[in-house]
Amino acid sequence: METTTKIIYSAFSGTFYTIPEKDFSLLDMGQLPLTKRPSSSCKKCQGRGHIGRDSQTFTYQICNCVRKVLDIEEIKKSITDKIDLNNL
Ligand SMILES: [Zn+2]
Repeated sequence: METTTKIIYSAFSGTFYTIPEKDFSLLDMGQLPLTKRPSSSCKKCQGRGHIGRDSQTFTYQICNCVRKVLDIEEIKKSITDKIDLNNL
């Protein structure tokens, strides 16, 4: 049986990883689903996905290239009540 996986970006650790899609709803806030990995040729982040760390919240500041590949539908579906999209 084929397992569908999702690419996740963690705003806390600044890393990308994949999980089985069915486990996505178990994730904490700050774990952002992506439709695909952002380009490693991004001039701002070189594919790291972040452009620095916020010293107040200790989360990484997401690069624009990650914002472009955010899986908005998935976010709306499962974590609308946990995350404020305006703060991304
Ligand atoms: Zn970037």
